[in-house]
Amino acid sequence: MVSLSRPRIARHIPTYNGYHDTPDTLEAAFVDVVESFENDTFEVAFVYYPRVDNMGHKFGPDAPETFDEVKTIDGVIKFFLDELDNHDLASSTNLVVVSDHGMSSNKDKV
Ligand SMILES: [Zn+2]
Repeated sequence: MVSLSRPRIARHIPTYNGYHDTPDTLEAAFVDVVESFENDTFEVAFVYYPRVDNMGHKFGPDAPETFDEVKTIDGVIKFFLDELDNHDLASSTNLVVVSDHGMSSNKDKV
């Protein structure tokens, strides 16, 4: 007979959650994240940056404004990776970059 049991609940992991709508505040958030990883305040960080999505909705996925935001976030991610490296945390940190959806330049309504 198969015994069904509830999954074990993982222990609570201290987390950082942040919403940042400018590159400056996003970089500052990453500085805080690196510091908190270094002193074990947080083990997981969720950082949200909406401007690539915002520009894509406003101007389209292929617009220069959207491309500029992609370049901006690329630079901020490089800043974060350098911060991790400078604090000897690069090899012990996983970075996952996700999007809430894709985008197409299709002009037809779906
Ligand atoms: Zn969107």
